[in-house]
Amino acid sequence: MSLVIVGSVAFDSIETPWGRRDRIVGGSGTYCSLAASFFTRPKIVAVVGEDFPPEMIAFLQSRQVDTRGLEVRPGGKTFHWAGRYDYDPNVRQTIKTELNVFQDFRPKIPADYRSADILFLANIDPDLQEMILEQVNKPRLVAMDTINYWIETKPEALMRVLRKVDIFFANDQEIKMLTRDVNLIRAGKKILEAGPSLVVMKKGEHGALVLGRDFLFGVLANPCEDVVDPTGAGDSFAGGFLGYLDRCGGFSQRQIRKAAVYGSVIASFVIEDFGVDRFRSLTRRDIAGRLRRFKKLVSF
Ligand code: AMP
Repeated sequence: MSLVIVGSVAFDSIETPWGRRDRIVGGSGTYCSLAASFFTRPKIVAVVGEDFPPEMIAFLQSRQVDTRGLEVRPGGKTFHWAGRYDYDPNVRQTIKTELNVFQDFRPKIPADYRSADILFLANIDPDLQEMILEQVNKPRLVAMDTINYWIETKPEALMRVLRKVDIFFANDQEIKMLTRDVNLIRAGKKILEAGPSLVVMKKGEHGALVLGRDFLFGVLANPCEDVVDPTGAGDSFAGGFLGYLDRCGGFSQRQIRKAAVYGSVIASFVIEDFGVDRFRSLTRRDIAGRLRRFKKLVSF
């Protein structure tokens, strides 16, 4: 199978109680494709400026990420996001969102990306998500993610895309905000009424709930004492989830449950270091080891 991911490739400036980093590489597309690369060979669609480090593109390629859909805009400036976390890693404040090269990005995806089996519209401008959706030939599965910035600035465009996808990934706050419902289960059901057949409700350090019309599955987050940087946990969850589905080639309930566990396992690694650094040393063996720990944690 094949997995195409469109998302942001960014510079992030991050402040946590454990330290700060200025303009390190992040972005929904970056986290997601690196996470998926432990299961499959994802193809990325995004744009960066001339200021983006070639070393990072080489790193993506070394992880077998297909970067032919990653445009480097001469003279352009890379998307920049700045955020701050509290001692509670689930509480995040966005300080700055500078769209830069994403402002006038008109993606044109390489011809062989059009036959993707799985398309992931990671967190990015919903108008861009729609443009990509129009360029692919009937993927077997389409998933999307978003962030409060787009819920606030482009709710109509977001709802248009939402109606056309099979899986909606978002964190609990975003789902409540989008549906204007304070109860997460009721809010999730409202999303299902809008179109998707599954809603993956990420709850940060409390794990995630996968909700379908006659399906509910809960997965824990790995108990972790030192969350160094929560950025990208949600994107990595989605990358692990969809990367696993792409590798196993089916979407049965059992495969969906396992995908959610892999998503949680991958997300549990990325938060152990700033930015994407943890992906540099992570191995498939580490993933298998933590999966075994997860099994023990929930068996009774
Ligand atoms: P997550 O922590 O998984 O929710 O995602 C964090 C990533 O989302 C960061 O690396 C940011 O660069 C990226 N991001 C933040 N705001 C936006 C936005 N408005 N559009 C696209 N990507 C964003």
